[in-house]
Amino acid sequence: MTPPPAVPAALHPLVAAFLDDRAAVRAALHRFGSPVHLVFPQVFTANLAALRGVLEGAATRYRICYAHKVNRSAAFAGTAAAAGIAVDVASARELLSAQTAGFPADRIEVTGPKGAAMLRTALAAGVTINVDNLWELETLAALSDPKTTVPVLLRISGFPGSSPSRFGIDLGDAGAAFDLLTRHRDRLRLLGFAFHLDTAATVERVQAVAECLDLVERAYGHDLMPTVLDIGGGLRQVFTADAAGYDAYDHALRAGLLGHGRAVHWGSNTFGYHVADGAVHGGPVFHKYANTESAADILADLLGAPLPGHGGRALSRVLADNLLELWLEPGKALVDQAGITLAQVEFVKRAGNGATLVHLDLSRDTVTAADQEVLIDPIVLAEPVVPDAVGVYFAGHLCLERDLITQRQVRLAGVPAPGDPVVFANTAGYHMDLSAARASMHPVPAKVAVLHRDGEFDLCPDADYRPEVR
Ligand SMILES: *Cc1c(COP(=O)(O)O)cnc(C)c1O
Repeated sequence: MTPPPAVPAALHPLVAAFLDDRAAVRAALHRFGSPVHLVFPQVFTANLAALRGVLEGAATRYRICYAHKVNRSAAFAGTAAAAGIAVDVASARELLSAQTAGFPADRIEVTGPKGAAMLRTALAAGVTINVDNLWELETLAALSDPKTTVPVLLRISGFPGSSPSRFGIDLGDAGAAFDLLTRHRDRLRLLGFAFHLDTAATVERVQAVAECLDLVERAYGHDLMPTVLDIGGGLRQVFTADAAGYDAYDHALRAGLLGHGRAVHWGSNTFGYHVADGAVHGGPVFHKYANTESAADILADLLGAPLPGHGGRALSRVLADNLLELWLEPGKALVDQAGITLAQVEFVKRAGNGATLVHLDLSRDTVTAADQEVLIDPIVLAEPVVPDAVGVYFAGHLCLERDLITQRQVRLAGVPAPGDPVVFANTAGYHMDLSAARASMHPVPAKVAVLHRDGEFDLCPDADYRPEVR
């Protein structure tokens, strides 16, 4: 059987050096057990420096708010706090984590949908509130202490050309929001406007910025003085080290779905593709793994994009000319390549359909959301006893048919052996924490911070990690 093409993962040099240090890898598994999530705060710091580099070169003032929800890690939160940036939290526990990490109230912003309890918590903490809807705005006015004013951003959605969003205040309801802000101007202080788009497209963000600038003008007409434009998150990650490998794999997968080649998919999974009339239609669930453009480049593109209706001036220039501060809320871009998950092979078996199943001591939900498929290959950190390339499926330890960690064949240099370490690359952004399974009473894997110091790798439980203050 010819194995499918390889899709090698991009690894930050620091992470690659750690994986090359087999003694350090063994020490991590020995000390903290398998599986284990490893986070690399120094990679976070490098990602932050890259974004700051772009922003420092632009005309506008800015604020970076790390979107905490991307990872529960205290080490990342602490690193962000020590670096002097702000944080975006979306729950009471995230707020507590941010406070514990050392963020002062004026560098914390609460986003997402909030009930009355969360609004009370946010008010008591004295943080900025990124308002999702008119009920929230009205409730804030009612709950707030008349002696203070609450700094608010209005999250806007419903931009022409963007897909519908369940979040935010529709553009058409901006007038009602202005009325509320005017009526409660002793209690609510409009900082500015915000959006967060579930897309990678620069054109949609440019359009949203243009609409928000119109809102800024309208706000002036109500004697409101907004100074902030918050463009949310959505800067992308780079997963693959080899875009051609990704394309070759995708091609092989589609050929297999059509029955034109050997199937490399498990069962009836089509990965979001729709097979009909002798063709494969639609886009795959794994398309994010194809990206090769760095977050810094995407940000530079956006800041330099000419803003329609503003004489072709670049977006960052228009913001500066309007005395607006640019806020952004990167999540996954800050933790890109800053985390991995280590597991171990338990055994290898042959299934009735002839497939080779490599069983691991973790479940699919520990490294990805169930409805996703990761299109970079897990890495086996051991030489095979018999070097002979094979295509295998990685299987999880839940007794559920769906707990195949890869629903697709992965090319390996040979069949692995029990005890071999297996690495899942780039899991810090939503992969390791979004849906960690607690089924079958398997314990949640430990999370450990890895620090490279004096040529050695130090390991520290994530919760105990203390960043060095700049
Ligand atoms: C999730 C989220 C982010 C972070 O998004 P990324 O795509 O990880 O950068 C930023 N802002 C808001 C409001 C969010 O909900």
